[in-house]
Amino acid sequence: MPSGRVHEAINLSVLGVASAGYIAYKASLGIAEPVALAFSASYLVGTFLVTPDLDLAENRVRAKGRWGVLGLFWVPYGLMFSHRGLSHTWLAGPMTRVAYMGLVGLLLYWVSRAILGYVGVNFNWGGHWQTPPENILWALVLGYYVSQWLHLLADGVWPDADLRFARRRRR
Ligand SMILES: [Zn+2]
Repeated sequence: MPSGRVHEAINLSVLGVASAGYIAYKASLGIAEPVALAFSASYLVGTFLVTPDLDLAENRVRAKGRWGVLGLFWVPYGLMFSHRGLSHTWLAGPMTRVAYMGLVGLLLYWVSRAILGYVGVNFNWGGHWQTPPENILWALVLGYYVSQWLHLLADGVWPDADLRFARRRRR
């Protein structure tokens, strides 16, 4: 099994080659710079911060360490998902981490709002939320997914693992 360091090296090499290709063929590719940047940013987040190996609750995972104190929030995720189980599938796996972060974020938002409301401070973020343009959103999704897929490939997990996982579940 490749270590976290090896996974990062593989992902960075691929991004390096892709960036060189993008710069060389920019004119004919027709991909705008903000889209390419959004892709790279979310790819890097998926390489260094949100990796499939966060399913290891007890071990020291490089990605978890990068979150600092917030890394503690990933412990329940590791307890919920067995190592290289659903977390290491192609479609649902990356989604479990995004959904998990959404839930934790929402929970923190509610708790902090309740505490602040208790001491008499009212705040509401709802009105300030603006969704980015559609092509940026797709670039973010793709960048994250590609980073996870490279991790899975390096782990020797192929897309057909999803089907096998679903079948195993049904049995
Ligand atoms: Zn892994």
